[in-house]
Amino acid sequence: MQIIDDPSTIQRRCESLRREGQTIGLVPTMGALHAGHLSLMRSARAENDVVVVSIFVNSIQFGRGEDFDSYPRDLYGDVAQAETAGVDLVFAPSAEAIYPKGFRTYVDVTELTEGLCGASRPGHFRGVTTVVAKLFNLVRPHRAYFGQKDYQQSVVVRRMAADLNCDLDIVVLPTVRESDGLAMSSRNVRLTPLQRQAASVLYTSLNRAEARVRVGERNAQAILEEVRTMIEAEPLARIDYVVLCDPETLKPLDRIEGPVLAALAVRFGETRLIDNLLITVP
Ligand code: AMP
Repeated sequence: MQIIDDPSTIQRRCESLRREGQTIGLVPTMGALHAGHLSLMRSARAENDVVVVSIFVNSIQFGRGEDFDSYPRDLYGDVAQAETAGVDLVFAPSAEAIYPKGFRTYVDVTELTEGLCGASRPGHFRGVTTVVAKLFNLVRPHRAYFGQKDYQQSVVVRRMAADLNCDLDIVVLPTVRESDGLAMSSRNVRLTPLQRQAASVLYTSLNRAEARVRVGERNAQAILEEVRTMIEAEPLARIDYVVLCDPETLKPLDRIEGPVLAALAVRFGETRLIDNLLITVP
């Protein structure tokens, strides 16, 4: 496995692999790798000749007062984990290499970025799509792998790839969870033991929403109230949002008539966690 920090080096390397006829799978990450990231890498390993993992804590997707400075970083640990997953190239650039002096260009997907996390994190998705577009240009992957855990991100990236005629497949893979259902996240390490215990309410409450749909509840407000009540019963949890929305447009739903995405963001102390469940109507 090779570690590359220079954008033009990774670009030349990937271009020559492509010319040799090798297929390239890209897994973009911010590092502090866990089993969720590794599942993306393993799928990329199975489906491509070459696997590239990027590790870059992307400052421009963090707002003022957010956790950019305290975001967990562990490059040595990450490299060891990537190696076990059969990764060929780790691209770990510096901030200056990605955003050199004079950088002025941003990629902005409209509408899909307004609700859910976009409402509480203005500018977040502009940062995500800008760095993902740059990674697509540097690596020119045949496939890029994303997790359903960041559902809105996957919808926004798919839209960007279609709108900008990016010649690649976007692959979205299921959320990997801890044994109590908590979605794996690099931020989980920042939870205190009590917060960690309390955080299992996220998945439990999403399952409650699904159970209500399964028994025939079609009124979104009624389900949302129940989910909110469950989360609010947990004294360490502070709700950012809980929504039931259309899985494609991400617009909130009043009535449930087809597939629905239940999505939430909840704070435990300084740590903001997100999760979601795609619910199909029987
Ligand atoms: P991050 O490093 O948090 O930016 O995540 C990098 C990629 O890993 C994104 O596509 C995430 O959606 C995905 N990911 C993060 N957590 C999980 C998880 N628990 N299960 C599956 N994919 C995940």
